[in-house]
Amino acid sequence: MFDLIVRNANLPDGRSGIDIAITRGKIAAIEKGIAASAGEEIDATDRLVSPPFIDPHFHMDATLSLGIPRMNVSGTLLEGIALWGELRPIVTKEELVERALRYCDLAVTQGLLFIRSHVDTSDPRLVTVEALLEVKDRVKPYIELQLVAFPQDGYYRAKDGVAALNRALDMGVDIVGGIPHFERTMEDGRLSVEALCRIAADRGLPVDMHCDETDDPMSRHIETLAAETIRHGLQGRVAGSHLTSMHSMDNYYVSKLIPLMAEAQINVIPNPLINIMLQGRHDTYPKRRGMTRVREMMAAGLNVSFGHDCVMDPWYSMGSGDMLEVGHMAIHVAQMAGIEDKRQIFDALTVNSAKALGLQGYGLEKGCKADIIILQAADAMEALRLKPNRLAVIKGGKVIARTAPRIGELFLDGRPKSIDGGRDYVPKIR
Ligand SMILES: [Zn+2]
Repeated sequence: MFDLIVRNANLPDGRSGIDIAITRGKIAAIEKGIAASAGEEIDATDRLVSPPFIDPHFHMDATLSLGIPRMNVSGTLLEGIALWGELRPIVTKEELVERALRYCDLAVTQGLLFIRSHVDTSDPRLVTVEALLEVKDRVKPYIELQLVAFPQDGYYRAKDGVAALNRALDMGVDIVGGIPHFERTMEDGRLSVEALCRIAADRGLPVDMHCDETDDPMSRHIETLAAETIRHGLQGRVAGSHLTSMHSMDNYYVSKLIPLMAEAQINVIPNPLINIMLQGRHDTYPKRRGMTRVREMMAAGLNVSFGHDCVMDPWYSMGSGDMLEVGHMAIHVAQMAGIEDKRQIFDALTVNSAKALGLQGYGLEKGCKADIIILQAADAMEALRLKPNRLAVIKGGKVIARTAPRIGELFLDGRPKSIDGGRDYVPKIR
């Protein structure tokens, strides 16, 4: 007798007709035709059942602040940073907590149950840090939130940036951040990478830097980040977020850089929505895409996962907490349209991110935590195409959110009465 059985599921790896039995918050069995019964059963026939989505790069201190105190008129990264600089000194802890909790509600309905958020440490009051530490605690029953100490205005460039970042880590922030391309000079950027990796090594913490978020092909801080990772023995525990300058780099240089990154086991975290929106702004035509070299890095064995980065904040007025929207954009920007490509993109929203975040017990295997989502799509390809409703979101064996399937009713003579986009329109080619 199990607590819950999800019946007849399609899994992201292509298996179908699988039952998943759950006891005491864990997956007790995952196989075809489980004979036992359970307190509750959910029929997942023709539905994709996946581990929850993970957002490995987000800014929860800024989310849902769109329009406060004003809109980003140019829509650029630099005006976004300036605008955040206007809001930050006047924002209160209560406002930050309220907005973050509201975003987490949305995330749960989207099946997004793991988030790594950068927390700006540039304002010496550190209300951002106080607020997000409180949020981390409050959402713990349903969302695992990791926090990165992020010196938005520069570790060396901001007044008291060094002290504030270290204070944030003392307060309990989990990960060391950085923004080397935003320091005053290339040399300051390099020195910041060295200093921040040393802090991480000394404190036994992972690293996740905004690195080379620029179209400048000479912005090469990722090289220093990889070298420092190896020097300090931090392999596998360091993430390079954005890495957009790699889009514009010389191919010969990249042919040396990617193997170095692979040696350092850098976790690569592009943010397709933001990168396509904010990069290439100084180009006329043709305009660069400004997303890093996803296909090449995946081929080199690097762990690539995608972040949402922003939702309705000074940098990005769109977004819905839907990681499938992120994957959908990634497919287009990286031109990864093949069946195997799409499988890799889905992995980049789930298992690859779990590896980048060092999650334990994540996945659809016996013994894993019973964190499971059921989507109104037949398989991972259809999920990426349709961005379908999450019919059920299960955390630790308990249903914590449900959304009714999106069914279109038709009133046409001689045509079907209704359309279930996630079921009726799946091509029979696979
Ligand atoms: Zn970011």
